[in-house]
Amino acid sequence: MFNIYNRVTPAIVAELTGIAGAGRVIYNDSERMEAYSRDEIPGNHYRAMPEAVVFPGSSAEIAAIVKLANRELIPLTPRGAGSGLSGGAVPIYGGIVVCTDRLNKIIEFDPANMMITVESGVIANDINEYLKDSGLFYAGYPMSMETCFIGGNVAENAGGGKAVKYGVTSRYVLGLEVVLPSGEIVQLGGKLLKDVTGYNLIPLMAGSEGTLGIFTNVTLKLIPRPICQADILALFPDSETAIAAVPGLQTESGVLPTSIEFMDQSAFTEACNYINETLPLDQCGAMLLITFDGMHEDDVTRDYEQAGRFCQRAGAVEVYVADNPATSERLWKIRRSVPEAFSASTPLQSGEDIVVPPASIPAVVKACREIGSRYGVRVPCYGHAGDGNLHARVTPPPEWDEAQWDATLPAVLQDLYAIVMELGGRISGEHGIGFKRKADMAKTVPREFLTLLQSVKQALDPNNIMNPGKIFDLSTPEKG
Ligand SMILES: Cc1cc2nc3c(=O)[nH]c(=O)nc-3n(C[C@H](O)[C@H](O)[C@H](O)COP(=O)(O)OP(=O)(O)OC[C@H]3O[C@@H](n4cnc5c(N)ncnc54)[C@H](O)[C@@H]3O)c2cc1C
Repeated sequence: MFNIYNRVTPAIVAELTGIAGAGRVIYNDSERMEAYSRDEIPGNHYRAMPEAVVFPGSSAEIAAIVKLANRELIPLTPRGAGSGLSGGAVPIYGGIVVCTDRLNKIIEFDPANMMITVESGVIANDINEYLKDSGLFYAGYPMSMETCFIGGNVAENAGGGKAVKYGVTSRYVLGLEVVLPSGEIVQLGGKLLKDVTGYNLIPLMAGSEGTLGIFTNVTLKLIPRPICQADILALFPDSETAIAAVPGLQTESGVLPTSIEFMDQSAFTEACNYINETLPLDQCGAMLLITFDGMHEDDVTRDYEQAGRFCQRAGAVEVYVADNPATSERLWKIRRSVPEAFSASTPLQSGEDIVVPPASIPAVVKACREIGSRYGVRVPCYGHAGDGNLHARVTPPPEWDEAQWDATLPAVLQDLYAIVMELGGRISGEHGIGFKRKADMAKTVPREFLTLLQSVKQALDPNNIMNPGKIFDLSTPEKG
């Protein structure tokens, strides 16, 4: 695997140490490097050891590391918190993992412009903690926000629970400092709400999964912090009834929820067991967790009452209201725990992240059930149903061994992706392609789209040193 790039030698390590400082490079220490050989995909399929791990403390240090790697033809893998679910931060060609943990400062809070500039290694949740008394907030809300870094969120164009109302990460990125694969530092955008001075490259960088450069700081747009929030938990007899309510909830109920999260019975049962939570779920085969926020309590109350009535008409057997932070957090904790609960349950599973036009979401849940029974596997579903993004955890029955699972999974995914594409969807809505979905992406997107992506990559990274082997393959340079 390593023969197309040069290896990290003790001389390179000495240069890395000269750049980042003593104690900031891990080399020849497989025990400490193991943590950087993986992300949060369960199991051992998607792992690869780096040759060195480096912890730079500034854009200038990152630029020097990238220049060194480009000169020596050594692959680099940018890494945030490692909470990714597509293998993006896994160094599949070895080389150097560049960690952004030390880039953890809030650079500037600018209330007059309603913006904040932070280093890329700041934990997403810490931004809102910092802003909590300011009357402003950053609207990104991935379910991993207590661990993931804002740089990782930009690199994956993370979505999450509030995307129905507030949209995904890139909507809030106004400025981005990037170390390009050449080692040059470039500032894209800035504190401007409008700017058509040349190509808008921020949306290209957002979602580039570390393949076009390393982000070092980010300027985010802030919005007024909603004063009131309430959630309703609507319990339905089965998945079909619950998911069928989702499109109408948006088009017919006359309200704009902040979130519409779906959990089928397996998902909420796994999560409740995992965190020792008990809810009155006797008649419940699936649930919708629907959130509303706003500036006036009356508006929020009117909205959740209207949505609650809609859910009852759509077949909900019970609708509970959580109108205080403690109860709301109790419900959201269940939702946030679903991925971890599944991951802990078995290493043999495939976490899918399919996305379809929102009105087609009921068809996908039905397809998951049918495909599951066709192949004798379980396909429990949960996710951000309001924006058409469903997480399906394909899981084998307990008696299957790895060989049977490996032999069956490709056919399951092929059928699932075929339906998703037929509905006008894509194979990843927010977790990214990484190298987990690289082969499937190549099979499901138009050839000319793939060629366009490859030419962008080649223009910015002619030596293919920046996170190679992610999203798609390129031919790699000759060994020097
Ligand atoms: C329990 C759980 C819940 C999750 N919920 C959600 C959710 O609701 N929504 C969602 O979108 N995702 C979710 N995720 C996935 C994950 O948290 C996101 O993809 C997140 O954005 C990754 O951030 P990170 O800092 O951990 O990045 P990493 O995992 O470290 O890296 C992810 C990718 O970004 C690149 N990268 C990281 N930092 C930089 C940088 N500074 N510059 C350039 N490239 C960089 C890496 O090379 C890699 O390709 C969840 C994950 C878990 C484990």
